[in-house]
Amino acid sequence: MAMLLQSPDKTTNILFDAGYNKQKENDGTLISDYLKRFNVWKLDAIFISHHHTDHYNNLQHLNEEFVVERVIQNQIQKPFYEVEELLFKNLPFDYYQTMQEENNRSLILQFVLEKQNFLLTFDAESPAERKLLQNTELQKTTFLQVGHHGSKTSSSSEFIEVLAPKYCFISNKWKTITKQMLQRKKCQTYSTNQNGNLIARITKNQIVVLTEKNTLEKRKFFTE
Ligand SMILES: [Zn+2]
Ligand SMILES: [Zn+2]
Repeated sequence: MAMLLQSPDKTTNILFDAGYNKQKENDGTLISDYLKRFNVWKLDAIFISHHHTDHYNNLQHLNEEFVVERVIQNQIQKPFYEVEELLFKNLPFDYYQTMQEENNRSLILQFVLEKQNFLLTFDAESPAERKLLQNTELQKTTFLQVGHHGSKTSSSSEFIEVLAPKYCFISNKWKTITKQMLQRKKCQTYSTNQNGNLIARITKNQIVVLTEKNTLEKRKFFTE
């Protein structure tokens, strides 16, 4: 899994995770090809949410091919905490990390763009969600990167209820049960397995989702 956050003037590029699927041949170049297509040669930061290979196995390759200014990784042996806001390129991140098990030690990042909340939970599962619910004044979020590739061990219904996301992105395939639950909660849900690479274009008034596998949108997608 990997997600790029690019500023409208394309001068700031932050990558969240740097993993690829080792089962597929040539996937090692997928992220770099994608970044180059978007004219990215320098990464202001790479966040590595946690240390499972599908989230970091391309890091070394990216370090060789791009100027990487900063790598921020989750840390081992830290209890629940809320780091002071990490102000980065004028974008404050609330930053949480919970629990012992590696998925549940995923960074959880919240930030605001155009007055809309964005929440990235990476591979956090229900125990981490419960901790967040107990310890944090969770706000509604417009955008949610759905935990643990849409697996049913994440996205507990109370968690989704509180967040009330409007757009949900799943890296990999969704489990029917997660999809149905998210749709019941009125979240427009997309997965890379079904829709290909996903883009959310954020403007003052709206979020437009472009998906790779829809031909019409694909044209727009590739002429960006
Ligand atoms: Zn994963
Ligand atoms: Zn994981």
